[in-house]
Amino acid sequence: MTRFLDVPATSQLIARSGVARFLRELVDTLRADYLRWNDFDKSPRVACHSPEGVIELMPIADARLFGFKYVNGHPVNAERGIHTVMAFGALADVDTGYPLLLAELTLTTALRTAATSALAARALARPDSRTMALIGNGAQSEFQAIAFHTQLGIDHIRVFDIDEHATDKLIRNLSSSMPALQVTRAASVAEAVRGADIVTTVTADKAYATIVTPEMIEPGMHLNAVGGDCPGKTELHADVLRASRVFVEYEPQTRIEGDIQQLPADFPVVELWRVLRGEAAGRESASQITVFDSVGFALEDYSALRYLYALAQQHDAGVDISLIPPATDPKNLFALIGESREHASDARDAAVAEMAFAR
Ligand code: NAD
Repeated sequence: MTRFLDVPATSQLIARSGVARFLRELVDTLRADYLRWNDFDKSPRVACHSPEGVIELMPIADARLFGFKYVNGHPVNAERGIHTVMAFGALADVDTGYPLLLAELTLTTALRTAATSALAARALARPDSRTMALIGNGAQSEFQAIAFHTQLGIDHIRVFDIDEHATDKLIRNLSSSMPALQVTRAASVAEAVRGADIVTTVTADKAYATIVTPEMIEPGMHLNAVGGDCPGKTELHADVLRASRVFVEYEPQTRIEGDIQQLPADFPVVELWRVLRGEAAGRESASQITVFDSVGFALEDYSALRYLYALAQQHDAGVDISLIPPATDPKNLFALIGESREHASDARDAAVAEMAFAR
């Protein structure tokens, strides 16, 4: 049987742990997996672009487990009253190919993205960072704020969004869930960024946007650029990148999707795993500007899936579903149709089974 975690089951698991603890344990899981980077069979994600958005598949495997995520990005969905980003995914046993877990990943993506941002910032931001600007106050924003508050000790954030209702919602959610975090509404990106130790951009616009421009940058800042994650979709002015030491998740994918898509292919970048393993320098001075050009990599979903699977087993969460036929007689797949015909209990089920059998 395959364990199935839908949105209510996943929400309950997260609520049971509490968001802060869930994030902390997810950061630890991510870190452990990033440290064994060379164990993974990696590739850039496969993207299907359309005028309004993108639908992507993100596979990855080590010797034991295979994971994949389906995820979209449709900034226009906000106007349609539906989610910009939606996702689900699976974890399978490499030895047999058997799917172990099928899970919602929309909520989980917000947590794993925030956990990855915090993991990177812990390695790259100045250790005395206390203030963060948070630009883009949509679905991902609470998770980013909580991760930086609980994982890095950020105690004051200045928030800005072109949609004031999004900012209202963020302030409301944070005042009830993280009362010790001081939140100030800014009137512009420049006002939010001024004097900040860390700048998180998590906006959605399918455009070469320049949310952060060179005159906003101050020595020693760390930029956590989350929303530029697709060809033709950026957040940082190219000169901000040129003035910074830039870190990426998986270079072959980020060259296509990240803010660095604006720069020549030989612009120097450092993969995060090398910093975490102590094989490359992170921040080189207190005044250096560092950028984490985040696009979201399959390894992070693998970590999230394996963490969710362990939690689900520990708390017996979710349900077991018959996603794969029982192995009573593996060569006789055809018999399954007969079985469903025999087991059809009422007239309607019998008619459906009859139709399936006739096909
Ligand atoms: P969302 O639509 O819920 O929120 C985006 C917010 O950005 C909206 O409130 C919108 O008003 C605001 N915005 C747009 N343009 C702006 C501007 N110029 N200045 C200020 N605010 C602006 O989307 P979301 O789910 O929060 O996702 C945000 C972004 O993060 C998306 O671009 C998404 O693709 C990206 N994302 C990246 C990762 C990753 O791993 N790097 C993971 C998940 C989502």
